[in-house]
Amino acid sequence: MENCLFCKIINGEIPSSIVYKDDDVVAFKDINPQAPVHILVVPRKHIVSAAEKDASDGKMLSAVFSAIAKIAKENKLDNGFRIINNCGADGGQTVPHLHFHILGGRALGDKVI
Ligand code: AMP
Ligand code: ZN
Repeated sequence: MENCLFCKIINGEIPSSIVYKDDDVVAFKDINPQAPVHILVVPRKHIVSAAEKDASDGKMLSAVFSAIAKIAKENKLDNGFRIINNCGADGGQTVPHLHFHILGGRALGDKVI
């Protein structure tokens, strides 16, 4: 997808600090970390948001959650962590390519629910 920031990162057109990649998923450090560990897990397929997921995306979503578990282990988040997906304008999504935030490395106090 042209002019998509995360597609450009996935394609190597924009530098990033990549921590994990496989056939379906790329993960890199968030440029503006909100916790000691703040990693974005991004499917290679350009999907605008969780609202755009379709029936063929099951394998990709499974890969996303397998990657999350691996990344959490590698970063020693054994005491827990938070996964966040901001979806759409009211959800606070700023980059319109589906992604999941992994936040950890400290007790995460602020909760919406
Ligand atoms: P969201 O607000 O949920 O759409 O999350 C977008 C995230 O992308 C934010 O946490 C930003 O800090 C992060 N971000 C924006 N540009 C970059 C970049 N070039 N490299 C890494 N993370 C980025
Ligand atoms: Zn994209």
